[in-house]
Amino acid sequence: MSIQITAAFDSGNIIVEEINGTSATLSIRKDKDSTFFQWFHFRVSCAVGSNLELHITGLKDSAYPQGWPGYNACVSEDRDFWGRADSSYDENSGTLTVNYTATSNIIWFAYFAPYSMERHHDMIAEIASVEGVTCRTLGHSLEGQPIDCLEMGEGDKQVWLYARQHPGESMAEWWMEGALDMLTDSADPVARLLLQKCRFHIIPNMNPDGSRRGHLRTNHVGTNLNREWHEPSAEKSPEVLCVRNAMDESGVDFAIDVHGDEAIPAVFIAGFEGIPSWTDDMGRKYNAYRDRLATRTPDFQTQLGYPTAPKGKANLSMSTNQLAERFGAIAMTLEMPFKDNRDMPDPEQGWSPERCQLLGAECLATLAEQIDDI
Ligand code: ZN
Repeated sequence: MSIQITAAFDSGNIIVEEINGTSATLSIRKDKDSTFFQWFHFRVSCAVGSNLELHITGLKDSAYPQGWPGYNACVSEDRDFWGRADSSYDENSGTLTVNYTATSNIIWFAYFAPYSMERHHDMIAEIASVEGVTCRTLGHSLEGQPIDCLEMGEGDKQVWLYARQHPGESMAEWWMEGALDMLTDSADPVARLLLQKCRFHIIPNMNPDGSRRGHLRTNHVGTNLNREWHEPSAEKSPEVLCVRNAMDESGVDFAIDVHGDEAIPAVFIAGFEGIPSWTDDMGRKYNAYRDRLATRTPDFQTQLGYPTAPKGKANLSMSTNQLAERFGAIAMTLEMPFKDNRDMPDPEQGWSPERCQLLGAECLATLAEQIDDI
């Protein structure tokens, strides 16, 4: 009996080229109106004990070919615990081969542990019901989905946390879950301190259309939202327009834009060096935050990361640069790996939802240490 494969569900993405017994030849669908592709998420039906051999082809043309060497696909049998399946990448053919022995009839594979829109709505409903929390719908995506913003805290420091501009970076919303659970834990003294000193504006998902469609990087019309912050439009990027308008009302003192990186096996942040109105004092505060975070958690490091922009050469279409320039905010892009943390590897799970959640709480605890200097 041959295996069966489908991706007809929230954030599903795979094209079945051929199935032969327990092996399959697959490829990844491009983001709509775009050339980006890298995210996959599909379900395999099979007999218990099947030795699955799944060949994901055409990856030389994927958005980040360097994401595949050293990468193991995420796999789950209960859609709760996500482990890793042994995978190998052939650079000559651009094929990732995933091997897995099924111990259930239904196996789920994904580029990273998925975070569905249904789970998003469950999380928003749960957090919005906590005393002191309000949920604002800042606007709507092109397909009419809400851009949800959770707000809490009585302080005057305006803190904006936002995730999943790139919808395939599902680790970003797992990070949000950890941050929100920490902030709404009434027994947590660090959370209580932060809520005294800050007003939080938290957007767990900036790109619901791309998320539901199983995109890597763009929205319904192929727009990369993190290249729109200098001039967002209702036609191409209403998701950014409504958020930036809300930021203009509140101001921004501190911001984290949460992402995942396909190639680099580490957690790191990128800042706003190169903005026209850079000051050394802004740089000092940014560096202090980075160094404190590295002290707090071994899952964060400062060796691997992106090169910094030369003086005056920052790309103001990206949110971190735009917020630092526009508001004088201490702003940063947080990147987590699709692969694993090279320094603290976990062969069973690699980088995982659980580690994203812990990091979310650590990032807030680091902010608490430094809040009077922000
Ligand atoms: Zn990203």
